[in-house]
Amino acid sequence: MAAIIKVEHLTHIYGEGMPDATTALEDVSFEVEKGEFLGVIGSTGSGKSTLISHFNGILKPTRGKIYLDGKDIWAEPDKIRQVRFAVGMVQQYPEYQLFEETVAKDIAFGPRNMGLPEEEIGERVRRSAKFCGLSEDLLEHSPFELSGGQKRRAAIAGVMAMNPRVLVLDEPAAGLDPEGRDTILSQIKQYHKATGVTVLLVSHSMEDIAKYADRVLVMDQHRIAMLDEVAKVFARADELLELGLSVPQVTKIFLRLRQMGLEIPTDVYTVPYAVKTIQEALAAKKEVG
Ligand code: ADP
Ligand code: MG
Repeated sequence: MAAIIKVEHLTHIYGEGMPDATTALEDVSFEVEKGEFLGVIGSTGSGKSTLISHFNGILKPTRGKIYLDGKDIWAEPDKIRQVRFAVGMVQQYPEYQLFEETVAKDIAFGPRNMGLPEEEIGERVRRSAKFCGLSEDLLEHSPFELSGGQKRRAAIAGVMAMNPRVLVLDEPAAGLDPEGRDTILSQIKQYHKATGVTVLLVSHSMEDIAKYADRVLVMDQHRIAMLDEVAKVFARADELLELGLSVPQVTKIFLRLRQMGLEIPTDVYTVPYAVKTIQEALAAKKEVG
């Protein structure tokens, strides 16, 4: 598969040369494949937000390069606006950036900025509102009348409405209740399926990553610790635990069972797969016994 984003020897130092300089990323290299759903996980301060903020030029590398479709995004700094349109960024708690009179106007803000015709803007607003489960009548309300989850979804819809080639979301489910989390994440998954847009999802939750991502990038202390398919990363559950990361509950149970000497796979990370594995193990036991 072709790379849509390529990160080459990326180092980021906040306040370089100052007494309080902080190295947030150290020599990070990897590629994001076109069309994939990539999860990004790592403990607080490991460098996740700093990393993704380079993809649309919010942050500039201290050293190293970022390529979008094979082009160094900083080769022509005055064209960085185009990169902002191509890589849609949903920052943490994006609802604080809602400010228009109506939800529709807020969602339209990005596309309007791109200078699109009104008709096209209207279509995009309706389409992305639908992806985010916001009904037509909500569109004419003030964003301040919406619930917390709805506000969050309106902010995400605003980024989707720009038709980005890559959608990057920094902890989009943070602070929501379990139902709100599931709603938002499954809508993002459906958007990914329907559009084929490359999605990068930063999350604290291994359960969420397990459920939605194809591959997962694990950050640890400003570097990449692992990058692989979800199943392969969870097969290294003991290493994840050493990095201070959690693993899904079922993975923990399976790891425990293996340590107790049971012949079972270690790459179990969803409940349905766990059930199937246990049924198979029991069936095999019956045949032997
Ligand atoms: P994460 O998103 O994984 O929690 P961050 O990218 O926010 O990690 O932070 C990585 C490191 O950079 C941390 O040590 C953090 O304290 C530091 N850092 C983040 N933002 C800034 C900033 N604006 N100025 C100085 N240091 C920062
Ligand atoms: Mg962060």
